[in-house]
Amino acid sequence: MVNRYDHPAGDAMSQKLREKTDLLLSKEKGTVYKDPGGKLAVALVYPNTYHVGMSNLGFQGIYGLLNSMSDVVCERAFLPDDKELTEYARTNTELFSMESKKALNRFDIVAFSVSFENDYPNIAKILNLSGIPLKSSERSPYHPLVIMGGVCAFFNPEPVADFFDICFIGEADEMLPEFIDICRSAANKSDALKKSSAIKGLYIPGLYNVSYDAEGKISKRWSPESASEKIERRYLKDISGSRITTTIITPETEFSGMYLIEAMRGCPWNCRFCVADKIYAPPRRKGLRAIKEEIQSALPRTKRIGIVGPSLSDYPYIKEVLQIPGVDFSITSLRAGTKSAELVGLMKKHKSVSIAPEAGTERLRKVVSKRITEEDILYTSKMLLTEGIENLRLYFMVGLPTETREDVDGIVNLVKKLRDISAKGSITLSISTFVPKPFTPFQWHPMKDSGEVKYRLNMVKKGLLPVKGVKVFHDVPKYAYMQGLFSLGDRRVTGVIREMLKGQDWIKAAEASGVNRDFYISRRREFNEILPWDFIDMGVPKDRLWEEYQNALSLK
Ligand code: SF4
Repeated sequence: MVNRYDHPAGDAMSQKLREKTDLLLSKEKGTVYKDPGGKLAVALVYPNTYHVGMSNLGFQGIYGLLNSMSDVVCERAFLPDDKELTEYARTNTELFSMESKKALNRFDIVAFSVSFENDYPNIAKILNLSGIPLKSSERSPYHPLVIMGGVCAFFNPEPVADFFDICFIGEADEMLPEFIDICRSAANKSDALKKSSAIKGLYIPGLYNVSYDAEGKISKRWSPESASEKIERRYLKDISGSRITTTIITPETEFSGMYLIEAMRGCPWNCRFCVADKIYAPPRRKGLRAIKEEIQSALPRTKRIGIVGPSLSDYPYIKEVLQIPGVDFSITSLRAGTKSAELVGLMKKHKSVSIAPEAGTERLRKVVSKRITEEDILYTSKMLLTEGIENLRLYFMVGLPTETREDVDGIVNLVKKLRDISAKGSITLSISTFVPKPFTPFQWHPMKDSGEVKYRLNMVKKGLLPVKGVKVFHDVPKYAYMQGLFSLGDRRVTGVIREMLKGQDWIKAAEASGVNRDFYISRRREFNEILPWDFIDMGVPKDRLWEEYQNALSLK
């Protein structure tokens, strides 16, 4: 299926957009430029801006992985910012890739890497801007194969299932080489699709139908083509051999010129609200030799290295790594506890470190199974501030299952206690609204009423206003509810995304498309209900999650 790339470029292209792209490219180290002749051409798309996409290690890793294959050329594309979108519209330019500035619709494969549900509307914008029909069923055999990877594909791709020919249920570094092999040998797009259906972990939404009962719940899901009922999530057994690493260094990212290296994938802690530990199970650690080699190969490019993993205090080689001389290491997030306290001395140069108590009281931390005590939080925070960390960032959530206003007061009291034991440095609270996630024990739980969530956020802000050196930031609840809809949604939610393309906000778009948002986000589900993501075999039995949910609720 190799040939589309050599077709002539689009008719129109704005000079301004071309120059802006060249400016970004001029700041990059590590960009891959390849002669496209005879190669399989993949446009790797991040459905958010360049700044956000290039800060994502997974996105960077897939770019490197694909370009390491001699007969594949992979180029990047991002969501243009608002000014650029106006310029695209004014000049009738089709969205193009950065490296060779080819229109996306001229690639063999357009691969979206999706890490955040609230980027779903951006997928539609990008397809629209590329002249690619939104629904896979509306595309011709000459349109590119449009595929989806990234964490959102792992746990519930249904709200965007209509847009994609194939979704990767699992880690791309495990499945991509097999998939690319198929594309190499396939005669055309439909042949590639047919062959892909035989690969474990590849989900082809077009092979399935879903029906709903009178209450709107899923009544049946079936495949007229007899495709496999369950799609098993796949993962790389040994991440020491993973090719996911930073490919391009640029100052235009969140980590400004830093080289990110993955030390761990998956997390051993099983917090009940968290989807990351379920979709990346089992926890895997990069071997010491492999991480040292990666650090050595990064050093000629930069001395600033960020070690990435969900719970780095559990990485067995973390002390050894942080003691490697001549490297300016960064690990920005720690788990409160004695293991982390031992690392504090090695983090003196850090300006800012985060820990995540998540809830303000011991009871609520038990409900969410965040196995850290108030003593852990106070002890680790004090150590960090005493060692000269300028800013301590604390992550909390509001709207958690069984949360009461007393629990929210607990956040204020905890921060006050912390300030009492150390007046050094500043403390920043980052509060997000709880969003139930598939494959967690809270997947059946409704989101709390938005008025009450706003009230509770205000309680924290007001409560901490008189406390010196404390800042409070929180998300916009409206977007947390949008995230809830996309996180828990089924195929009908696609209608909301289509309406949003007309410029409406998600609430009006839901009304216009006839989607009852309360049905998705404000309703407690029953154990027997078929959930949109039940077709994914995550390796966690549903009855065990239900038992966990009941255990959590019993701690009221
Ligand atoms: S420690 Fe963090 S990554 Fe691990 S399960 Fe808890 S919230 Fe998730």
